[in-house]
Amino acid sequence: MSITEQLESLRDDGLAAIAAADSLPLLDAVRVEYLGKKGSLTGILRGLGALPSEERPMAGKVSNDVRVALEAALEVRNATLASAAMEARIGADAVDVTLPGRARPVGSRHLIEQIRVEVVDIFLGLGYKIAEGPEVELDYYNFTALNQPPDHPARSLQDTFYVRDLSGDEAVVEGESDVLLRTHTSPVQMRVMEGRKPPIYILAPGKVYRRDVADPSHLPQFTQIEGLVVDEGITFGDLKGTLDHVCKAIFGPDRRTRFRPHFFPFTEPSAEVDVSCGICSGAGCRFCKGTGWLEILGCGMVDPNVFGYAGIDPERFSGFAFGMGVERIAALKYNIPDLRMLLEGDMRFLRQF
Ligand SMILES: [Zn+2]
Repeated sequence: MSITEQLESLRDDGLAAIAAADSLPLLDAVRVEYLGKKGSLTGILRGLGALPSEERPMAGKVSNDVRVALEAALEVRNATLASAAMEARIGADAVDVTLPGRARPVGSRHLIEQIRVEVVDIFLGLGYKIAEGPEVELDYYNFTALNQPPDHPARSLQDTFYVRDLSGDEAVVEGESDVLLRTHTSPVQMRVMEGRKPPIYILAPGKVYRRDVADPSHLPQFTQIEGLVVDEGITFGDLKGTLDHVCKAIFGPDRRTRFRPHFFPFTEPSAEVDVSCGICSGAGCRFCKGTGWLEILGCGMVDPNVFGYAGIDPERFSGFAFGMGVERIAALKYNIPDLRMLLEGDMRFLRQF
């Protein structure tokens, strides 16, 4: 094989190897194999000196052409592989906008909050305004102004959390502090009556506190919704009509209500309201303890003494007040056997509502 044929064969092998190299390291290995110091072409060039002098110019030209052809092919292939490598890197970092998004869990209102909003909406529809008061309350508003002066026997009906000032030296005997966690939302009534003139139509939802051990029907902290109406000519009939409407709005139009005489210190007369059992429709079952009725709220006509504390003329104005527990309504509406389930945070239970 002549030197020219050897060079052309080497060129063809080199070009094929360059085309086959599919990565930059492999391509560099090809370059070293052909053009490196110990490469095939270099070896041939070193042998040129041994050729007869008439063959040398042609062999020199052909070998130079082969070197140029290989270098050019290497350069093109190198550019192609480098840009492919770059694209691969960019692709690995990029966001694939065609992938489906990651779904985030959607939150919802807790059942207690759902019922609170539902009841508030019913009263807003009747023209009531929302009123608020402090949860840490003065004894005066929680008891005294609601017709329960310090030695009134009705105070023992409610077990109270007292708030004591520990910053001073004076030891306060338990039960004698005049600051407490409100035991009902009724103090809001007094604060509203002090601050504005009748007509008053307000609803006061909020947290209240009792020194109760949590059990299926008691919680030490629960949500109460208090209502107060003060206007000229308000009668017990207005109270009954309002609460009957509200109970039907909460529990359904086929439910009935009944009013049983009761005692509250700040209303006279007072009543407890029952709604007919939704499970047995009044026939009597385990849920309603065989009575056909479920106790739902307390209410009454505002006691004239309370008007006296508030500076409202009881000769001219009359009114009614009522209070209901949101947790109890939730339990009755959805047949929840234990109020503590509402606060345990078990999502399997809460997701049902
Ligand atoms: Zn029943």
